[in-house]
Amino acid sequence: MFQEKEYLRLKKGSHIAVIGGGPSGSLFAFFAQKFARKIGLDVHITIYDGKDFSQAGPAGCNLCAGVISETLVSALNRDGITLPAQKIRRSIKGYYHVHSSGTSFIDPPRKSCTIYTVFRGNGPRFARFDGNVSFDDFLLQCAAQHGVEVVRASVVDFFLPENKREKARLVIRRNGSIQEVEADLVVGAFGLNSKMITKLPNMGFGYQPPEALTSLHAEIPLIKNKIKKIYQDRIGVFSLQGLQNLRFGVVTPKSDFLTISLVGKKDVHRDVLSQFLCHPQVKNIFNDPASIPFYSCQCRPKLPIGPSKKPYTDRLVIIGDASFSRHFKNGIYSAFITAKLAAMTALYHGISCTCFHRHYYKLAKKEIIRDNIVGQILFLTSHYFAQNKRLISFYATQIKKKSSFLGRFLLFFSWNMMTGEISYKNILQEIFFVRFHTYLQPDRISRLIRKKRKRLDILYRIKNKKKRVLNDK
Ligand SMILES: Cc1cc2nc3c(=O)[nH]c(=O)nc-3n(C[C@H](O)[C@H](O)[C@H](O)COP(=O)(O)OP(=O)(O)OC[C@H]3O[C@@H](n4cnc5c(N)ncnc54)[C@H](O)[C@@H]3O)c2cc1C
Repeated sequence: MFQEKEYLRLKKGSHIAVIGGGPSGSLFAFFAQKFARKIGLDVHITIYDGKDFSQAGPAGCNLCAGVISETLVSALNRDGITLPAQKIRRSIKGYYHVHSSGTSFIDPPRKSCTIYTVFRGNGPRFARFDGNVSFDDFLLQCAAQHGVEVVRASVVDFFLPENKREKARLVIRRNGSIQEVEADLVVGAFGLNSKMITKLPNMGFGYQPPEALTSLHAEIPLIKNKIKKIYQDRIGVFSLQGLQNLRFGVVTPKSDFLTISLVGKKDVHRDVLSQFLCHPQVKNIFNDPASIPFYSCQCRPKLPIGPSKKPYTDRLVIIGDASFSRHFKNGIYSAFITAKLAAMTALYHGISCTCFHRHYYKLAKKEIIRDNIVGQILFLTSHYFAQNKRLISFYATQIKKKSSFLGRFLLFFSWNMMTGEISYKNILQEIFFVRFHTYLQPDRISRLIRKKRKRLDILYRIKNKKKRVLNDK
């Protein structure tokens, strides 16, 4: 069995420096501390992040729609992390899909679902809440309660040692002054909106950041009942015609806000937001379309659309968005997966390039990267459906017939594509199963037999006719 060199294993007193206190950084620190305790190893873990999650607006926010999927809620629960009610901005009852043939309502396959919406920071700019509602702050506090040190400081630079026996060095900016710290392991949990992403490819170990699109977010204040009741507890997915550069828009309800997220075929520019809000099908979700509230907070975060290359080397591992993320879905759950895998590798196997390749990269590849290839195909197919008037109207009529087999299947497909609850591979398997299943329906079989019999009859008659002609001759 492969045994890592002693100096590339964590030992008593080792220091782990985590760059970034978003979901991946906090969860890595949480798991690393938990696993260290399990194996009786006393390590020191520090999270460095310059952001203050008690601030409202972009200064305290990690820029996302804030949908906490059912998969993430149960994964966190299994590891003893329960989301407190104070952080939940809305419990989601279902989805609606707006397309050129109208609106289709996508209800959960079970009676209830546990999808929540949250604010990543302490709410949008100018918002005021009782206490801190930030989801990222909650995860950071979970790590801190397990003994992780949280330092409000930005990492300006870091250096990996040429001699593998030596430690890595980090340059920190804290309260305006520069400090240097040493670390046995550096964890890059800095996401895609960080300067670090441009620095790392020059470090020479082969890292290439994920390909990414610039998206657009806006928070709209919703003073009571501005949005029609039917849409209040649902997440809206908009496949609109007439907006050339828009791939899809998502409208996420929070307590007193609506989060609009726009994703394009290329980077989205600010003018797309007003075009989106002026679209008649978007106006239709508001009680008084003439008075759509003015958006108070806007940002343009990066959304990964591919995997990174070689996000690890000796004494360094990169996790979260800066490494791998599920295609267009559950970014925070992907951060959970990469954080847990990296923490397991570091504590149970070692901190060398080989260890991260075997126990981190290979598993993440299986879980996320390969599945994303299927995801890309499914998204392209759905996009094609949504753009084709005939197909989308067929979809809309079928999905209404919840009692029919095809209607139920389309509901299953749409629900899982929208929530990302099951892997894309499993969705594809279901599609093949349905194809097989519909093919074997009793009425279809009898129709096939009748058709075959008819053809055989015709062939028989032709054959007889030929025989008679030959006999006559
Ligand atoms: C349009 C859009 C909508 C999305 N909607 C959802 C959604 O509804 N649900 C979902 O699950 N996911 C969603 N995501 C994805 C989600 O935002 C990310 O997957 C998730 O935030 C990744 O977490 P992370 O910890 O890797 O990075 P981040 O959340 O970006 O955190 C990185 C942290 O590192 C810190 N940092 C950066 N550089 C430094 C430095 N030099 N020194 C110290 N600290 C540093 C930052 O301050 C930040 O706190 C969405 C993304 C986009 C773009």
